[in-house]
Amino acid sequence: MKVYAIKRQTLKMALEVAKDNYPKEFAAMLRARDGVIIELLFIPGSIGSDRSAMIPFYMKPVDFSIVGVIHSHPSPNTTPSQADIALFGRSGDVHIILGYPYTEYSWAAYDRMGNPIKLKII
Ligand SMILES: [Zn+2]
Repeated sequence: MKVYAIKRQTLKMALEVAKDNYPKEFAAMLRARDGVIIELLFIPGSIGSDRSAMIPFYMKPVDFSIVGVIHSHPSPNTTPSQADIALFGRSGDVHIILGYPYTEYSWAAYDRMGNPIKLKII
């Protein structure tokens, strides 16, 4: 099923983690059920850096409920970098970038090609 929304509680938690990690980036995987992102999956060994957040994909569990990756940027810019788009391409269909100051209005979602998509908050 196509992912069309994220649970408010899940988004809030991600924004909190982004704040806690600032000015470093953080990254986690997104788990969805019935088209709604419901959970963040923190992978041991995820690297947060100020350049680009990377997840070691050999750690990725075989789990089809994982739909993509969420990561934060240390600036208000939520445009994916070239490295981000490369990461998107190999890690699912829905990706979220959280921008400083990490509010409900400072994030954006993209497909695996880096095209903006709409996600509802529910
Ligand atoms: Zn990025």
